[in-house]
Amino acid sequence: MEKSYDAIVIGAGSAGCIVARRLSEDGQCRVLLLEAGRDPGPLETPAIRHPYPLSAYDAALQWPGLTGQIVGGADRRMARVPQGRLVGGSSSINAMVAMRGIAADFDEWCEAGAQGWSWRDVEPYFRRLESADPHRDCDDAAAIAIARQAASPHRRLSNALLHTWEDAGYPRIADPNTDFRDGCFVQPVSTDRGGRCSANRAYLGTATRARANLDILADTRCLRLRIAQGRVCGVETESAGTPRVFLAPRVFLCAGALQTPTLLLRSGIGDAAALEALGIRTVADLPGVGRNLQNHCALPLGIILKGRKGLPPGLPTAHAALRLSSGAHRSSGDVYLSVWDRAAWHAAGSHVGVLNVVLHRPASSGSVTLRSGDSRIAPAIDFNMLDHRSDIERLSMGVRAAMEFLESPRVRAIGRGTGLVKLGKAAAWMGFRTSATRLASRAMTAASGLWPGLLSPLYALAVKPLPDPLLGPADLQAMQAALRASIVLQYHQVGTCAMGPAASRLSVASPDGQVHGVAGLTIADASLLPAVPRANTNLPVMMAAEKISAMFLNR
Ligand SMILES: Cc1cc2nc3c(=O)[nH]c(=O)nc-3n(C[C@H](O)[C@H](O)[C@H](O)COP(=O)(O)OP(=O)(O)OC[C@H]3O[C@@H](n4cnc5c(N)ncnc54)[C@H](O)[C@@H]3O)c2cc1C
Repeated sequence: MEKSYDAIVIGAGSAGCIVARRLSEDGQCRVLLLEAGRDPGPLETPAIRHPYPLSAYDAALQWPGLTGQIVGGADRRMARVPQGRLVGGSSSINAMVAMRGIAADFDEWCEAGAQGWSWRDVEPYFRRLESADPHRDCDDAAAIAIARQAASPHRRLSNALLHTWEDAGYPRIADPNTDFRDGCFVQPVSTDRGGRCSANRAYLGTATRARANLDILADTRCLRLRIAQGRVCGVETESAGTPRVFLAPRVFLCAGALQTPTLLLRSGIGDAAALEALGIRTVADLPGVGRNLQNHCALPLGIILKGRKGLPPGLPTAHAALRLSSGAHRSSGDVYLSVWDRAAWHAAGSHVGVLNVVLHRPASSGSVTLRSGDSRIAPAIDFNMLDHRSDIERLSMGVRAAMEFLESPRVRAIGRGTGLVKLGKAAAWMGFRTSATRLASRAMTAASGLWPGLLSPLYALAVKPLPDPLLGPADLQAMQAALRASIVLQYHQVGTCAMGPAASRLSVASPDGQVHGVAGLTIADASLLPAVPRANTNLPVMMAAEKISAMFLNR
């Protein structure tokens, strides 16, 4: 028997929790929220709440089998792509850094055709979204809490770099979410009462879950949309091998920047020629679906911290940051240096600090495409990073600046062995928290207590000398090869169903999220953002979900 609703929301992540909450505020609107992963409940587990992002190291909370090509061509490299797969989505496994981006990000969206998304337009939604009190319990607050991180003597790398940046003349910025100058600051985090404040906790709390008109169906994967005569009318799902269909005249796509385009393509919405080659009947010919995949890339520089005391495990990992402009191509705030005072969750990771050099305004973009019409086969993800010459120039400028800061007397006083963080097989194995790796971590702690210095060779394995072309002036090709071999993904993918005017060939949805040519179908997640902001993406995605919900409810 097919069950009917007024609206179905696909994906209970940063965006989906907000959309389901807002739509179900109208008691007459029967809402179904579908989530492929498990439901930890409104109060979540201690590992999800933990301020050091322990949940990021739990494979059971992530999509299995998602891999993407970081760079293509002869030096092609693949990497695992983490994405949250639970009620709360990636907001329940991310590093909790709470940045909005800079005003120019949104003004540029607007200039490129996303009418109504300038900084002036979006700023009230950020304020509303961030209005919860970090000192109080945020269960069902309908807003997340943004906390300023307290100073701590344990944050030796952050403290040394903040002073070094001030010595170099950068202003110390009190609130990087309202003051968009180049400068250094401590990054705010989304926490309430010291623990993670996820979209699930803040928007699908105890009271909202008690609403009679909201059903949350976890462990249920949407396979494709049902569309008849140019209008969406339901979704096909499967749960533990059992297929089910749900009907609704409105469907909101919130499956994230990798899965939302995948669902559209499987449902016949995308480039007609590519769909037909896979035997999928075209419902709407929208060549932009899956194109314009934007993400930040980073070069992680490591430093082995002196002394026996690492960062205690109960603090967020990300702390100090420097926003700076490369000066290339008149781009401002396009390079971002961000400190992790602890490289990983385990004992060895607490003795290595990381300075991530992030390219915050990439010119390169990639794609998400189908390999097959079969819904069991993961999409092909091509990030195509550093394809653009200006990306190479700007990232190498950032690397040189970062190396100078790491060689400063203040940093040398607390660390040694600066270089590139490159993980071998053993470190990759330690990347996930399993019973075996937790045991290994405990053994490391015990052994290093008995024999100080025992772990030093392990750190040296993770921090390698920086390749020559990145140390001094080198030709573009040599720099390109060195960077392409070493960069890592940030997990800030956006843009694969970009909003814009219907006349624009690559736009997929109008600025109110409505998919061109398919009535009743709205996109409200990271895929809708036309360009990646100069920030981690959780707050911008949540802002977009609030704004799309408001536009829908105020029609
Ligand atoms: C490891 C990691 C660290 C990060 N750190 C930060 C950070 O510190 N600060 C920051 O601002 N941003 C960070 N981000 C990015 C940020 O969390 C994301 O940009 C944001 O959560 C994206 O929201 P979304 O709603 O688009 O997707 P998601 O939150 O990923 O939600 C998508 C949801 O849809 C579900 N879904 C997908 N397909 C289907 C389907 N077919 N059927 C049913 N359900 C489906 C998924 O299981 C998931 O729950 C991080 C991301 C990751 C992965």
